[in-house]
Amino acid sequence: MCHQTIIFDMKLENKKIAIIGGGPGGLTLARLLQLQGANVQVYERDLNKNARVQGSPLDLHDESGLAALIKANLFEEFKNNFLPGADRLKIMNESGEVFYSDHETKLEENFGHEHFRPEIDRGALRKILLESLQPETVVWNSHFISMEKQNEGWVIHFKNGQAVYADIVIGSDGANSKIRPYITNVKPFYSGITMLEGNIYDAKNTAPQICSLLNGGKIMAFGKEKDLLMGQKGNGEIGFYASFKASENWGTTSGLDFSDKGQLLDWFKTEYPEWSDRWHELFESTATPFVPRPIYCIPFDQTWDSSSNVTIIGDAAHVMPPFAGEGVNMAMLDALELSECLTSDKYTSLLEAISFYETNMRKRAAIIARESLENGERMHSETALTTMLEFFSGH
Ligand SMILES: Cc1cc2nc3c(=O)[nH]c(=O)nc-3n(C[C@H](O)[C@H](O)[C@H](O)COP(=O)(O)OP(=O)(O)OC[C@H]3O[C@@H](n4cnc5c(N)ncnc54)[C@H](O)[C@@H]3O)c2cc1C
Repeated sequence: MCHQTIIFDMKLENKKIAIIGGGPGGLTLARLLQLQGANVQVYERDLNKNARVQGSPLDLHDESGLAALIKANLFEEFKNNFLPGADRLKIMNESGEVFYSDHETKLEENFGHEHFRPEIDRGALRKILLESLQPETVVWNSHFISMEKQNEGWVIHFKNGQAVYADIVIGSDGANSKIRPYITNVKPFYSGITMLEGNIYDAKNTAPQICSLLNGGKIMAFGKEKDLLMGQKGNGEIGFYASFKASENWGTTSGLDFSDKGQLLDWFKTEYPEWSDRWHELFESTATPFVPRPIYCIPFDQTWDSSSNVTIIGDAAHVMPPFAGEGVNMAMLDALELSECLTSDKYTSLLEAISFYETNMRKRAAIIARESLENGERMHSETALTTMLEFFSGH
């Protein structure tokens, strides 16, 4: 028997929607639009669904990431896959002394508690979203290169030589979005902070001391203008970041070979001179290459004129420093709000729907981006440890 979902609103009838980028924002949007019967494809540059998704676990918030998952009917899957206890936190100094820990109290909190921020692996979140989509929704190995107008829509070109037509293009292709320039020439600015990302496999065996220090949760260690941030993942891995002030092109100008663990350990010893050697295990156990990530932020007053056939969500629209843990949450909230605008009969045209979404999104993102940037400044200040202790003790 064929179940056909009816589109509740006429704006999307007979329209092909191309979502560029299958990160948390793009996949959430695809799911929400498919639930409304829309014709959606996601074009993702990764070669296939098994491509590694890096990074520490993410905490999802009630009013954004979790709200989107609830609307997507995926809350139960989330509950089956979240990492109980991974939100527990220790705050430490350079020597590894613990100044704050909620390991004894945190497990009492649960869904519905105002401070409960459940964590999930990026890979697990991607899997839940992928499995919720209709078969063949994601077209892998589709690296967007360019597009040009045709009739009311766009012809989109990919690196593999393929081209497709879509009536509406939605860019969810992350911080270095190739769709964003079709909408605005406003560029994000460099925040002054770079994060060096490392990932440790089979951490219990390869980094046993750090593993037992983490005890299934997260550590934020603050020194003078330099931090180490790390988190336990569900699959036995540890993701960590050395976070510090550097020039924008540090990754290319430092002269470091990011595949050489020994070089990176020497770099750590030189650049983090006050730090105890108990942290060395992080560098000794990391699977190379390390990845330098310069951290960018959108100008808070960014604006542009909306179009009826192209828009952006997530980092493509509002990249921001990760120091308020809001990036994924904002991307998923964009997906929720855009899907509601596109399928609501409140807006009589696509232009009106997209314009309403973009105006709200820019306003909301500016507030959160400012907060994220300010958190970043606090976390990389001379007094980071005391400032952050005051912050967390207040919660
Ligand atoms: C070091 C670091 C730590 C972070 N920590 C956190 C955190 O703890 N909590 C949090 O909420 N956020 C965090 N963030 C931010 C978070 O990762 C992003 O905000 C979030 O991933 C944005 O989701 P997205 O779907 O918009 O884009 P992305 O997750 O970047 O996904 C974009 C997708 O598009 C694909 N793509 C890119 N270019 C193309 C192309 N040309 N053609 C086709 N596909 C393309 C990519 O392969 C990818 O799958 C962190 C960011 C960084 C850099």
